[in-house]
Amino acid sequence: MFAVLMGSVPVIATWRAMVPVVTVPLTLGVVTRFAWMGGTDGWFACVVGLLFGGSMARYALSQHQLIRRSLSDQIDKELLSEQLMRQSFELQRLNRERSRFFASASHDLRQPVHALALFSRSLERDLAEHPLAPVAGRVVQATDAVSGLLNAMLDISKIDAGTVVPRPTEIAVDPLFLRLAQLFEPRAQQAGLSLRFHTAPEWLQTDPDLLLRVLTNFVDNALKYTRSGGILVSARPRSDRLRLAVWDTGLGIAPEHLPHVFDEFYQVDNPQRDVARGLGIGLAIVKRLVDLLSGEIGVRSQQDRGSVFWVDLPRRPPAAPAPLALAPAATPDTASADTTETPLVPPRVLLLDDEQPVGEAVRMWLAPYCERIEITSRLADACAQVRATPEGFDAFIVDFRLADPQDGIQATAELRQLAGRRVPTILVTGDTDPERVRAAYASGLVVMFKPVQPEVLLRTLHQIIRSEARERA
Ligand code: ADP
Repeated sequence: MFAVLMGSVPVIATWRAMVPVVTVPLTLGVVTRFAWMGGTDGWFACVVGLLFGGSMARYALSQHQLIRRSLSDQIDKELLSEQLMRQSFELQRLNRERSRFFASASHDLRQPVHALALFSRSLERDLAEHPLAPVAGRVVQATDAVSGLLNAMLDISKIDAGTVVPRPTEIAVDPLFLRLAQLFEPRAQQAGLSLRFHTAPEWLQTDPDLLLRVLTNFVDNALKYTRSGGILVSARPRSDRLRLAVWDTGLGIAPEHLPHVFDEFYQVDNPQRDVARGLGIGLAIVKRLVDLLSGEIGVRSQQDRGSVFWVDLPRRPPAAPAPLALAPAATPDTASADTTETPLVPPRVLLLDDEQPVGEAVRMWLAPYCERIEITSRLADACAQVRATPEGFDAFIVDFRLADPQDGIQATAELRQLAGRRVPTILVTGDTDPERVRAAYASGLVVMFKPVQPEVLLRTLHQIIRSEARERA
């Protein structure tokens, strides 16, 4: 009976009510039997039986407590992990929503700013002799500031989308510094600052355009934040790396701000966020570019003494001198076109954009430079135009997102098919969503992002027409 009692403990411990139900009758049955026997042995066995039954009951109850506690711990853990999972899903949802919100806010904002940029530049051009010309100039300046902000955000999107691909070549330091000198000497002189270069006979295997963008940003900031003294641009080997550094004797950066200067939209001293004092995004872009170049970026600064910003890049042993083709510091954009290319005759252009104000703005800006410009907002209208005169257009300007079921890439294919040739086309987009940016580039068309700079639009238009004519010749 005692063995049965002991063996039953693991089973009865799972259910509290079972403990007295099993232990009491079993113990009482045994001890009553011993008491019935009587005598010293009987009474002794009776007491031992009672003690044994009692301790088994206690043991079963403590086991019950233990099981309960571990079960409730497990349930708590499961609840917690379920809650965590729910929170993480919620966070992912919020993140997706936030990205969607920014993408569509940015897209919707780009449309009117794009139109505004074109209208204001047309106004400035057409009012050149008018007393209101300075006002038009101010409007252009203000629009440029907004465009600058939107384009800086786009640069980040493009880098994150992986559409900025470094094209490394072997470059020497000297020509790089020469280009910086050409770019900044006049500004330094105007500001009464010295601009010196400490070069080294070193070579790098890197993308010269992207590196130039990094260094121009450093020098631009150095000039912006230095009141007296000067700027030194240096190149110094450090084991297998070359350090390109820009030193200034400027305002410096307080230690609490220093770790954040590479963050997006971080500015040290611009609480009123005056756009004329920068956007706080230059260094965030630079940091991404340096990552693309597999380099390392760094900064050291002392308030009121000056700062040094540097980039470390892998050194290359000297190679046969190669001509260095350095483009002007431009955004990594297919649209940064050659300025000299103007077609012999004013072009005939067909625009397809579902936003009417954009169409009007493009017409107003381009009309004086074109023989013919047709504005359409639906693909069917554009197709009708091309069907009527298949040879009637030298170029198409097509918006990526249309009111039609087709997007700009598909629309271009249809229009080209109707024209019976590969009419040079600019795909204009206000999308900054990395997926869409990738899709736009993958189309092989010349891509321009809204808001476009009016002059760049004109230049690109001329350039694509010229290069198509050259191909055909
Ligand atoms: P911004 O367009 O405002 O100059 P950046 O991203 O280039 O934006 O720089 C971020 C912040 O870092 C700036 O607001 C400025 O305060 C600080 N900074 C950058 N370069 C320097 C420098 N050479 N000297 C002092 N402060 C600097």
